Amino acid sequence: MEVKFLILGAGPAGLTFANQLQESREKSFLVLEKEKWGGGLCRSVYNNGPFDIGGGHFLDVKNKKVLDYLFHFMPHAEWNTFERNSQIFIHNQYINSPIESNIWQMELKEQIEYLKDIAAAGCNNGIKKPDKFVDWIEWKLGQKIAADYMIPYNKKMFADELNNLGTYWLNKLPDVSFEEILYSCLEHKSHGRQPAHSTFLYPKEYGYGEVWERMSKNVENNVMYGQHIYGIAFDKMEIKTHSGLNVKAQFIINTIPWKEFKEIQGMPSALHEKLGTLRHSAIETRLYLEDMDTLAHWIYYSQEDLPYHRKLIRHNFCPYHGYWTETRYERISMFDAHDSNVEKYINEYAYPLNTINKPQFMQDLLSWCRTKQVYGLGRWGEHEHYNSDIVVQKALQLYEKISGGNYIE
Ligand SMILES: Cc1cc2nc3c(=O)[nH]c(=O)nc-3n(C[C@H](O)[C@H](O)[C@H](O)COP(=O)(O)OP(=O)(O)OC[C@H]3O[C@@H](n4cnc5c(N)ncnc54)[C@H](O)[C@@H]3O)c2cc1C
Repeated sequence: MEVKFLILGAGPAGLTFANQLQESREKSFLVLEKEKWGGGLCRSVYNNGPFDIGGGHFLDVKNKKVLDYLFHFMPHAEWNTFERNSQIFIHNQYINSPIESNIWQMELKEQIEYLKDIAAAGCNNGIKKPDKFVDWIEWKLGQKIAADYMIPYNKKMFADELNNLGTYWLNKLPDVSFEEILYSCLEHKSHGRQPAHSTFLYPKEYGYGEVWERMSKNVENNVMYGQHIYGIAFDKMEIKTHSGLNVKAQFIINTIPWKEFKEIQGMPSALHEKLGTLRHSAIETRLYLEDMDTLAHWIYYSQEDLPYHRKLIRHNFCPYHGYWTETRYERISMFDAHDSNVEKYINEYAYPLNTINKPQFMQDLLSWCRTKQVYGLGRWGEHEHYNSDIVVQKALQLYEKISGGNYIE
């Protein structure tokens, strides 16, 4: 089989690119997807109300073009808007997140301990910014926030060994100064830049998967599901799947994890050998049907003895009872046996890990691939911690670039 455009993976990245081709009346394109339906990490299932199986997903789009694009598939009237209420369970109480803006919600004695410690942190004393993750947390927020919350929480979510992670990605975290923390304790209100999703949208009647489901339907004649890709030949521009399909293409848009290619031909050995250095983490999600006595949309848990690191309180953003948990795969054996009957789902690829050498390697890999008309796109194609709105934006941009705006007459 031969097509002009071959898209690997039907998550938000692949679906956006495919829909752009469809929109431009391109006929020669095909999407290959290993699962039975599209949406990737953003999919929902509906046995007991919506269950977002890739974890808690909320729409927070800064780019108007992206928002209009998504509203084209699922109009604004079908979404509710929420003011974020995210909380942290710490010292046996719930406070708002981020921790550094909400120390004022703790007991006075705790506040003083944290403030003394933050005052001594490296960033407040002219010490040079470190380039390893754990050192950076202590430098930025002090040893007490690091030990009580940030390090145990990030270990639960990403990996036991955090010092393999770099610091180049930490601009995603809220940046709250010592002065702002002092103000918040004195004035009893949060100060400083708030984290992502300070307001967010969630579908009124469906799970987060609905918008991607509609995008999948729109290109259904050009998608083949149940196609697990394992091979790529750059010299022949050919893809192989476990079911025996071989597809050649002029352009290959890759949105699947690079480590999924167990067979690679025509790639320089210096790149091929380093593919194994890309790291990721897996998570399991579970659905519980009882409600919780809280107004939070989600709650972070850093306690080592609790398997999960986050609970998503479904009944506070969706008209269905219950909540979901997110747990790093390596920790799921900690759940009690009686939990084994709950609805659950494993996502083998959840978080691309921002290891120290990743940026340089990905830059080398993607620029070489582009010379072959193979393009890495999205969370896995670029191995970046992108949210779904950014993935859509990247897919629209890549389409513009490849098509030159008027590629199809
Ligand atoms: C816990 C969690 C919470 C998140 N919260 C939010 C949020 O609140 N808001 C937000 O906007 N984003 C959120 N995200 C990010 C969001 O999930 C991603 O940005 C988005 O799914 C990326 O889309 P993608 O198409 O690049 O990758 P994916 O969604 O991962 O899609 C990749 C596709 O490739 C397929 N595939 C993989 N391997 C193969 C193979 N060998 N052969 C064939 N097909 C294959 C997969 O099945 C999948 O369909 C969250 C992610 C996680 C893990």
